[in-house]
Amino acid sequence: MTSQQLGGPTVYLSVVIPCFNEFECLDALYERVSATCRAAVESNYEILLINDGSKDRTWEKIAAYADKDPAIVGVNLSRNYGHQLALTAGLNLCRGERVLILDADLQDPPELLGEMMAKMDAGFDVVYGQREERQGETLFKRGTAALFYRFLSRLVDIDIPQDTGDFRLMSRKALDHLNAMPEHYRFVRGLVSWLGFRQTSVRYSRAERFAGTTNYPLSKMIRLAFDAITAFSISPLRIASHVGIILGLLFMLFLGGVLYSWANGDVVPGWTSIVTIVLLVGSIQLITLGIMGEYVGRTYMESKRRPLFIVDEVRKLSASSMTSSP
Ligand code: UDP
Ligand code: MG
Repeated sequence: MTSQQLGGPTVYLSVVIPCFNEFECLDALYERVSATCRAAVESNYEILLINDGSKDRTWEKIAAYADKDPAIVGVNLSRNYGHQLALTAGLNLCRGERVLILDADLQDPPELLGEMMAKMDAGFDVVYGQREERQGETLFKRGTAALFYRFLSRLVDIDIPQDTGDFRLMSRKALDHLNAMPEHYRFVRGLVSWLGFRQTSVRYSRAERFAGTTNYPLSKMIRLAFDAITAFSISPLRIASHVGIILGLLFMLFLGGVLYSWANGDVVPGWTSIVTIVLLVGSIQLITLGIMGEYVGRTYMESKRRPLFIVDEVRKLSASSMTSSP
């Protein structure tokens, strides 16, 4: 339970949908998601539509749904915070025992809910959608996405499944732990992988956007990629320190050569001292920078204040069975 959570009775299912300039998608979204929820849990659900500072009439439409349908919770953010933070706001506020994360553009089919619920019934805490193919997305988007997931899995030491978005069903248990992470630069799907617990996937083919255009231009994709890599890895800093140490050692070797030439007397006067100073100072600087990088990296990782571990379950004999006499 988080402090920001909405008041009122809990519901069985929450659907959290960040919306940025999605006016044209909303009607279809509302119909399809409501129908899917009713089929799965009758009226025991809520749909949180988070308006992330849209510039079109998205919020007017969300407010109108919220005024007539008790299952709709409209949340209006003060400005555009970006997809991951809009999503985080919804995840903090929602009350469901289970929560489905969905995009507003219907690229991920809400109808997969039934299958995801069945997997959760079987004991999984996270059921994420894994894309088999992507329709209507440019070769560039598919190519960069594929490259990104492969690059990420090499850099990062936790297992972030390939080709997944944020489309997933999570249990309250997993969600509460996710909400407890205070960090600002959030890469939600990475954090969810970090949580552990029992996770599984359902495979699906990603549809075209229902309407409108993508809100993830290249600049936002690059920012997300940076957030993802830096949130889970200090490898880039470590690359700097490795390069520094290797170059520093090479310089030292070269210095040996310089001194050898000097001893044989075949150099211009003054060259030896200048080159010696440049090489020595250069290598010391690079090595020092590398060492500092290691410390900066550790400070950064520590400053996240993530919990050190999460205990899923503690099993022990109950007090009554321990004291029961034969
Ligand atoms: N979105 C958001 N804030 C933003 C950008 C996007 O809330 O600043 C939402 C958007 O409305 C959609 C989801 O994030 O529900 C994914 O965005 P989009 O479909 O544009 O990304 P793509 O599928 O092209 O990666
Ligand atoms: Mg989309």
